[in-house]
Amino acid sequence: MIIGGLEKLTLLDYPDNLAAIVFTQGCNFRCHFCYNPMLVLPRAKLEADKSNKDQGFSLKEEDLFLFLENRKGKLDGVVITGGEPTLHPDLPEFIQKIKSRGLLVKLDSNGTNPGMLKRLIDEKLIDYIAMDIKAPWEKYEAVVGVPVNLENLQKSVKMIMTSGLPYEFRSTLLPMFHNEADIAKMGEMISGANRWYLQKFKPDTNLVNSSFEGKETFLDKELEALALIGGKYVKECRARI
Ligand code: SF4
Repeated sequence: MIIGGLEKLTLLDYPDNLAAIVFTQGCNFRCHFCYNPMLVLPRAKLEADKSNKDQGFSLKEEDLFLFLENRKGKLDGVVITGGEPTLHPDLPEFIQKIKSRGLLVKLDSNGTNPGMLKRLIDEKLIDYIAMDIKAPWEKYEAVVGVPVNLENLQKSVKMIMTSGLPYEFRSTLLPMFHNEADIAKMGEMISGANRWYLQKFKPDTNLVNSSFEGKETFLDKELEALALIGGKYVKECRARI
């Protein structure tokens, strides 16, 4: 597993659990608004490695497991996020090692690898799944910046909703990409889902597409209004503010 970073404690990312966050290196999307360019762009990673500005960058697997041993009894689980974790063929073995330490595992994914998701679900390796819903299907490629196999994403949505596991869908929204009609279309794509969280994009940091830095983002009340639209399609839709 290529680990790009570690956040030692989160009270927010794994609902109702104290967790550490492991960031895997590499992603097959190029979402313009992504605020983890070091995990996504090889060039940005090289620069970060050179300047070594980021604590915990390029962590060795053995150091991660040493950290988890030291936190025994203090953490409930680990959030595995990216980048895109399902790109790593050794993800199941990596998760096995985490679970053998008695920890829960939440997986964040962009949904592009339903084959890996199926294996993780069938082998009971994950306890919670979060999948990004980036845009209505017809706008997906414009938002993620690369060609997309929509069939794979649709398979992942269905698999997650029928997995019997706790799950959430989440969407990062930008005024230049998402309007009210888009939220309705995205709601239809996950119609009947348990939870859908909407969040604003952060324009005030380094982004995968630097031309998006400083662009307009939604106001809290606008995001809440979009969540009301989303709530017509799923059991619970909330603005994460
Ligand atoms: S937002 Fe997620 S899926 Fe998109 S480029 Fe960043 S890490 Fe990849």
